[in-house]
Amino acid sequence: MIPVLRADRVSRTYPGGVQALRDVSLSIQEGEMVGVVGPSGSGKSTLLQLMGTLDQPTAGRIEIRGHDVATLPDRRLSALRSAWIGFVFQQFFLSEGVSAVDNVCTGLLYAGVPRRRRRAKALAALDRVRLGHRAEHFPNELSGGERQRVAIARAVVNEPSILLADEPTGNLDTATGAAVLGLLAELSADGTSIVVITHDREIAAGMPRRIEVLDGRIQLDTGLAVPR
Ligand code: ADP
Repeated sequence: MIPVLRADRVSRTYPGGVQALRDVSLSIQEGEMVGVVGPSGSGKSTLLQLMGTLDQPTAGRIEIRGHDVATLPDRRLSALRSAWIGFVFQQFFLSEGVSAVDNVCTGLLYAGVPRRRRRAKALAALDRVRLGHRAEHFPNELSGGERQRVAIARAVVNEPSILLADEPTGNLDTATGAAVLGLLAELSADGTSIVVITHDREIAAGMPRRIEVLDGRIQLDTGLAVPR
């Protein structure tokens, strides 16, 4: 089966010579939940940027569902990204001036979904994160955990193959963070591949698969946890 995402001997050297990633290979199958863990500066965000096709490696290749992203023209790459990849960040990045449901609708802006269908899809996504009852609330009326759930709904509204989450619980207390991770686990059980970047070893230890990164290299990959 073609993996959702494959990195083959990927390196990323930044201008100035910092080798943020060195010879990293991994592949992620449908429905896997993977924790990428390492200390600050180990290369996690760089890896997330490459997996999310927001940046290109200086050596090696990244494939999304078998497509070598380096060979795609910009427009096709943007289309692939918006169809197949969802992002969640520590800071939520919600628009303060619009309701939860309208925030989720922004996840469909580039997906070619007709305007009249966007709202229904956004409400369904909010139901998936159990926030249907908060659809008309503005971000400043929501708790941190609820904001992150809105951000997750926005990331999955277009039913991506893979969700990349960069320290998604970094701004949440432990209990709220655990609930958010539980929600991500539910999404992976439904078939979405989930990658959670974290510096927190305890969080990573709770994941079915763990990839440890240090100095831009993979130190340990506990391997495929979903037999398919
Ligand atoms: P982490 O997410 O694990 O904290 P990063 O991927 O952000 O690690 O950084 C890995 C290394 O690359 C660090 O040494 C960092 O300083 C460096 N780095 C990250 N982004 C850039 C950049 N845009 N330009 C130059 N160096 C960078």
